[in-house]
Amino acid sequence: MRTLDDLRRELARMDGRGYPAYRDLQGAWDLGPAVLHVDHVQSDPYAPPSKIRLVLDRAATAVPAELVREHSQRVAAGDHLTRLLCDALRRVGPSGRDKAAGSLRMMVPGQQVLERTAVLVDRERVELRLEAALPAGGRRIRGRAATALLAEALPEAVERSLLPGALDVEALRKHVELVLDQLDLQSQLRERGLIAFVGEGSILPRASGDSDLPLRRGAQPLQCPETLRTSFELPSGRMVTGMGIPEGITVIVGGGYHGKSTLLRALERGIHPHIAGDGREWVLTRPDAVSIRAEDGRSVAGTDISPFIGGLPQGTDTSAFVTANASGSTSQAAGLVEALEARSPALLIDEDTSATNFMIRDARMRALVPADAEPITPFMDRIGPLRRQLGVSTVLVAGGSSAFFEAADHVIAMESYQPRDATAQVRQLIAEQPAALEEGDDELFPHGVDRVLPAGALGAPRRDGGSVRGRRERGSSGDGERPKPSRARGLHTIQRGHEDVDLSALAQLMEPGQTQAIALALDAAAGHLDGTTTAAAAIDRVLETIDRDGLDALSPRRGHPGDMAMPRRAEILAALSRCRSLAERSS
Ligand code: ADP
Ligand code: MG
Repeated sequence: MRTLDDLRRELARMDGRGYPAYRDLQGAWDLGPAVLHVDHVQSDPYAPPSKIRLVLDRAATAVPAELVREHSQRVAAGDHLTRLLCDALRRVGPSGRDKAAGSLRMMVPGQQVLERTAVLVDRERVELRLEAALPAGGRRIRGRAATALLAEALPEAVERSLLPGALDVEALRKHVELVLDQLDLQSQLRERGLIAFVGEGSILPRASGDSDLPLRRGAQPLQCPETLRTSFELPSGRMVTGMGIPEGITVIVGGGYHGKSTLLRALERGIHPHIAGDGREWVLTRPDAVSIRAEDGRSVAGTDISPFIGGLPQGTDTSAFVTANASGSTSQAAGLVEALEARSPALLIDEDTSATNFMIRDARMRALVPADAEPITPFMDRIGPLRRQLGVSTVLVAGGSSAFFEAADHVIAMESYQPRDATAQVRQLIAEQPAALEEGDDELFPHGVDRVLPAGALGAPRRDGGSVRGRRERGSSGDGERPKPSRARGLHTIQRGHEDVDLSALAQLMEPGQTQAIALALDAAAGHLDGTTTAAAAIDRVLETIDRDGLDALSPRRGHPGDMAMPRRAEILAALSRCRSLAERSS
């Protein structure tokens, strides 16, 4: 194998030549601490960066074998090493702004611990996946800068983060232990009859509306009300105490600005473990709880919203509702039913992001507008039947209306950021001023919630197992054109053929790597839509593939997949449901 010295010589030889000569870097180089694999070289300085991998024997690193035995350990360790490597790259590499210096980049993790494809670690080896923007002066190769980047900064980053003497093994051990404890607590929620848990002392507020970092100044640690207090004993021997939110219907009330939405947002994100220092280490929610909201303007493709909306003007069928432009109420109904389709056991809903007419209707309005002239059956009339018929729990923020008191199993009042159990007080109020619910006893979903999508609804299958958009939409350049895989643009957009799928309403989508994985999961799911398979089953088949072969299996062949993070079934289904081409083909 070519050595570090060979690499230096090669880069010196390339200096000043045209950029395409970088192609000769392709292949493997033994850099000493790691073998560098150059998988794909960018064609010019403005093209997407080159893809490289570093592969080390696990035994040559300071990562102890006993910390990477099980899958969840490997995910936790991979998460930690990704963070260390990102740090090291920041310290030793060029800033990335200067094309002349080039740059080294790796997927940057957020506050949550996710399975990602950036760093793979097992008992045999550690594999790091990076992108390198190779240095250019105009369109010429800058050999010296490339040497500094690949032959110096790169091995140094590895030495500083992974090798004996540099890696803080205790910190790694603690991280893995924390994540295993968190996952264990999360897995106990179900048998304990809980939807979520919020540890005593948690810091829920964030630094700002557009930051997921903890609020540093003036944050009030959560104090748990006695009646909801519960404890968990965890594998490390650690005991954690805090507030358990039971299955059933929990309503969060309280004055404006008293921390209701902050609590709900923490629950939304408690589907994944959080890193030490985040403040939400012990906020854990059932992993498939789904947050839903109104999202007017979205498209809907065949979702049964009839339990909530029926008798629309012009006789529109709402048991397989199709629209390119949903209203606030129809969009929220569709989001809710799609959460059920994703087998969610719990819905998380905030009044701030809900359509009022979807949620509630008061007695005087019921008197004014007769039921047969009102297409909407409000959620307040369905929340109980959802619980009883389908076993679906709801955690709901409702500070502006007492409409949900009758249905509530528990009421939590937020007062100056602290929760108080107000259930008994609300029972008292109900006894003094009773109000009738108009729940009815009809079966909500006599045909179930699963959609069978038409064959080719997401485009024709791609030959390599993914899919392409229908040829019709590929444009006129037509024959022989290799269809492009779908891809993420940032956190909230998936580019599929000519369509941009908008995911900005998905509160529980956390990292762009998940968006990228969802984009490719949609391509793979497209291949399973044969006219008899349900949307959920198509997605399950993709998830089974990931389970068996890892996230890498989603990736099309070109270059390494260092840019993915594990998505949930709910977000994949939500993305699928928002493809406008799907609505077009379903109408
Ligand atoms: P609500 O939904 O009840 O109107 P929010 O949850 O939006 O209130 O919170 C209002 C403000 O209070 C936000 O700026 C939030 O960051 C802050 N906040 C929430 N919880 C805490 C807390 N525990 N300590 C300090 N500030 C908090
Ligand atoms: Mg609020």
